[in-house]
Amino acid sequence: MDFDDTPEEAAFRTRVRAWLEANATPKRSRDDRFGAGLDEAAYLAAARAWQAKKAAAGYAAIAAPREMGGLGGTPAMQVIYNQEEGRFLTPGHVFEVSLGTALPTVAMWGTSEQKAAYLEPAFRGDHIWCQLFSEPSAGSDLGNVRTRAVRDGDGWIVTGQKVWTSGAHFADYGILLARTDWDEPKSKGLTMFILDMKLPGIEVRPIRQISEESHFNEVFLSEVRLPEGARLGPEGQGWKVMLSTLMQERFSLGENFSGDLYDQIAGLARQVLWNDRPAIEDARVRAGIADAYIAQFGVDLIVRRGMSAISRGESPGPEMAAIKLIGARAFQTAGALALELGGAEGLIAAEDLGADWRLPQLFWISAPGARIAGGTDEIQKNTIAERVLGLPGEIRTDRDVPFRELEG
Ligand SMILES: Cc1cc2nc3c(=O)[nH]c(=O)nc-3n(C[C@H](O)[C@H](O)[C@H](O)COP(=O)(O)OP(=O)(O)OC[C@H]3O[C@@H](n4cnc5c(N)ncnc54)[C@H](O)[C@@H]3O)c2cc1C
Repeated sequence: MDFDDTPEEAAFRTRVRAWLEANATPKRSRDDRFGAGLDEAAYLAAARAWQAKKAAAGYAAIAAPREMGGLGGTPAMQVIYNQEEGRFLTPGHVFEVSLGTALPTVAMWGTSEQKAAYLEPAFRGDHIWCQLFSEPSAGSDLGNVRTRAVRDGDGWIVTGQKVWTSGAHFADYGILLARTDWDEPKSKGLTMFILDMKLPGIEVRPIRQISEESHFNEVFLSEVRLPEGARLGPEGQGWKVMLSTLMQERFSLGENFSGDLYDQIAGLARQVLWNDRPAIEDARVRAGIADAYIAQFGVDLIVRRGMSAISRGESPGPEMAAIKLIGARAFQTAGALALELGGAEGLIAAEDLGADWRLPQLFWISAPGARIAGGTDEIQKNTIAERVLGLPGEIRTDRDVPFRELEG
């Protein structure tokens, strides 16, 4: 397996790096974050401006075809760009759903009118998108979606509730999974729509998190009227459209889980004194650091395997499920070790203990969410069991039953 860039990829990496050096500030350390102290409105404005700058340079949608406003490059080039941008201080996350999953779905399933209307403005940063799939009783199994879209003349009326919708409070549009046929089995009666988030009947309620931030929301839909032109893909094919959206997540390759976590923890363990000796002299601490190193080394190898597949023009395999399964747990256990090293001040006093402590604290706070978002640990294990190891699948008794009967 060849983990190196091809000559073309290496040339692209050099070009991207030169452009980033001319247009952004390099990170001083891995936990350096863009926009400390900016409020949400200012951060969003900065993110839109950065996206517009990337679009002007041709880097907004590298793998999208030129006729759709992209650069016409390969998925490998997009991954290379993301790796390089990760070394610079730029506003992250705001366009993650737009560029990572929503717009590729519009590009794959949209009509020519939809592509013309939505792709380029979003690549330029004019529009932000969100993903309205999960509901209070539909998460791991989106076949349980109950939000209903009912035909009304030449349009649709949508009623229901979504939850955990990242960025819905600032999104302009969303891709929405709704049930259009209750007499079909659970995965067959679904249809995907494009939702204009400013339409009457939509109420977005932010969910307050343990960190005091609100990244995701409940979204209530009360008789929201959609035109026929809002349907994304064929009626009744929403499951297929949704699967193609989730496939896109594989191309992100768990960039959030690679890095030098063990190094950070080892640095802290050298600083901290336990019984007047550096904590790193304690065998249990060294074992924790070794565990973090092993987990990250494994994650990095799986990421490289995925990158190698992308580089050959293939899709990364189901074994990519291990990246998040191992990476998010490693963040959580390493975060816990860092908190222990911080002693009584562990979680509460990053400011007092110094900047070195901020990232491990963030790991601790964000790891539980990372173990759920984009498929829980158990769902990743099911994927590995069934699709990597070839073990027998789960027994599913509801697959062919009309959804209406499951309701009772
Ligand atoms: C930070 C974050 C951001 C998110 N952003 C979005 C977003 O933008 N849009 C969106 O639509 N959703 C989003 N989600 C929701 C996310 O996709 C769901 O939370 C996730 O799919 C799990 O669904 P659930 O919460 O309904 O849990 P459930 O599916 O109810 O699962 C509950 C428990 O049962 C286990 N379980 C379920 N099924 C099985 C099974 N077959 N075998 C074994 N165990 C099982 C699960 O692992 C879990 O432990 C986000 C979630 C988080 C944490």
